[in-house]
Amino acid sequence: MVIKNVNLETVCGITSTLPENQHPEVAFSGKSNVGKSSLINGLVNRKAYARVSQQPGKTQTINYYNVNDEIYIVDLPGYGFANVSQAVKAKWGKMIENYLRKSRQLRMVFLLVDIRHEPSANDKHMYSWIIENGFYPAIIATKLDKIKRSQVQKQLKLIREGLNVAEGTPIVPYSAVTKQGRDEIWELIETYAMA
Ligand code: GDP
Repeated sequence: MVIKNVNLETVCGITSTLPENQHPEVAFSGKSNVGKSSLINGLVNRKAYARVSQQPGKTQTINYYNVNDEIYIVDLPGYGFANVSQAVKAKWGKMIENYLRKSRQLRMVFLLVDIRHEPSANDKHMYSWIIENGFYPAIIATKLDKIKRSQVQKQLKLIREGLNVAEGTPIVPYSAVTKQGRDEIWELIETYAMA
């Protein structure tokens, strides 16, 4: 995918009406700090377009990046902040659920998990939401550069088993440092969301 232009076109809060976009959407979900902003920046070849390490719990918005007037990358709010209130958690759930249910253009949802860790209860919850809402799931195992090459297969197995991933569901290891995995992710987007 050649990135010609990127534009943060819409930012939705809890009370916003979702935009009626004319192009397909792919969404990215995951725990806060998993590397979602870094991944989105890597996908669109920008250094700091999506915010990296935003303050926990501060902004819970759904951000729509228009890429080339062809596809939207949708940045869903991160979950799993340690010190947020039940009210904030409930708000987060409502936003995601509303988006998964109502977006007409959503084609696939990526779940990001840190390659070093076993999936959390929230990760499992998010993964089953993706499936239950009928979207094509794909997993990105982030921070690949943080483990030894000899550990990769073992960690991928841990993630596959932890999420109870169906045969054939892609799991792409990604590093924001080396950009390994970037082309594979774009290929999945082109195959399952843009074709
Ligand atoms: P977000 O909260 O999910 O958007 O996560 P960020 O993209 O802000 O990343 C959280 C932290 O992890 C930041 O300090 C990043 O620099 C770091 N990080 C993200 N991805 C990678 C990666 O692939 N490799 C390494 N070594 N660090 C990463």
